[in-house]
Amino acid sequence: MERSKQHQVKVLTTFPEIIACNDCGKLFKRPELINGTIAQCDRCGAKLFYKTADTANRTLALSLACLILFVIANIYPFLNMRIEGIVQETKMITGIVQLYRQGMPLLALLVLSTAMIFPLLQIIGMIYLLLPLKLGYLPRKAALIFRTLCHLKAWGMIEVYLLGILVSMIKLAKMATVIPGLASIAFIFLIFLLAAVVSGLNPDDIWKQLPVKIRKKREPDTQNSTVLVSCHTCSFLSCLPKKEVHHICPRCEASLHLRKTNSIRRTWALVITAIIFYFPANMLPITFTSALGHEQADTILSGVIYFMFSGSWHIALIIFIASVIIPIMKILILIYLLLSVQFRSVWKPKDRTRLYRITEAVGRWSMVDVYVVTILVAMVQMGPLASIEAGMGAVYFSAVVVSTMFAAENFDPRLIWDVMEESNEHV
Ligand SMILES: [Zn+2]
Ligand SMILES: [Zn+2]
Repeated sequence: MERSKQHQVKVLTTFPEIIACNDCGKLFKRPELINGTIAQCDRCGAKLFYKTADTANRTLALSLACLILFVIANIYPFLNMRIEGIVQETKMITGIVQLYRQGMPLLALLVLSTAMIFPLLQIIGMIYLLLPLKLGYLPRKAALIFRTLCHLKAWGMIEVYLLGILVSMIKLAKMATVIPGLASIAFIFLIFLLAAVVSGLNPDDIWKQLPVKIRKKREPDTQNSTVLVSCHTCSFLSCLPKKEVHHICPRCEASLHLRKTNSIRRTWALVITAIIFYFPANMLPITFTSALGHEQADTILSGVIYFMFSGSWHIALIIFIASVIIPIMKILILIYLLLSVQFRSVWKPKDRTRLYRITEAVGRWSMVDVYVVTILVAMVQMGPLASIEAGMGAVYFSAVVVSTMFAAENFDPRLIWDVMEESNEHV
């Protein structure tokens, strides 16, 4: 589909049937799909939207089941550890409380949010929206709630937490017997069901039920003073005057921008922050272990080496990829993308967009080491026999993970394609 002036005028008059690609900005006439098919952008390969049989009822049932599992996972013992006849019982919250007691409130808050609060909000939010919609009425603030749920998707990380549990269990199995409690079984079911809730719901099933509040109907003009702006959250396309700066989406009420605001500057600031934190994150210890009078401080790399030489090379590899490779890779890719946009590169835009999507998707897995620390400090609190405390390295490392995730969120991949379009216009 070409975006010539003549075509753009045609687009403006029929814009509800038009969809813009979130990753490259290309406009498409919304195709009629049959169930089970996906509309994909032919320019950058992004998924535009997909058609399914109604997913709302199934998601509601799964959300209710998730709520029950969440309660069980949090009130019953999670993991029990037996060492020299002493049994220590831990719950999901124990590690978070320990981090707080050890003077790391921000780290405790991060783990509490990503492993407990955000997943719980996903579950409650879905029930709040889907139950009334099933009964035939629109819940209050539905647009705000669903918009928030869409943003929270990337920040609820219980599947990463599960990987953290597995790594911790292998580490602890060398010094004690670890017995999974009832909560850990509920937790595993919860992970699968919550994944089905988060990825199984077709967002269009909710968005299409929300009213579109168009205050003033705008007719397109031939002076080219209007512009089509796609909502970052719900993909609704609005026709706006070029000169007016502040707008909100008529459907989900998110603020509308032609491109993410100050994308380049913000992304640079966050990438530089991540680089600064990267050094203390790797140089300072993430855990202090004391067992029978013997004290040991571990950094991220010494943890990897420990697993490598204790026969668990696969765990060493997982930690090495999640904690060392992924953060460096994210920082380097983001720097490359930023420079390529600033130097107006026209080289392989599709591959660069793909790189961006990978960066956005893998970042969360770096949290695994932070969760391992949380679980270790929860489980190994046996006074002089054995105890583990978190080190400042863990705080700096989580700052690296969070700032690279925000950096990826702030980068606007459409800037890669804007350069392409401008250079095409000059030909
Ligand atoms: Zn695209
Ligand atoms: Zn919207």
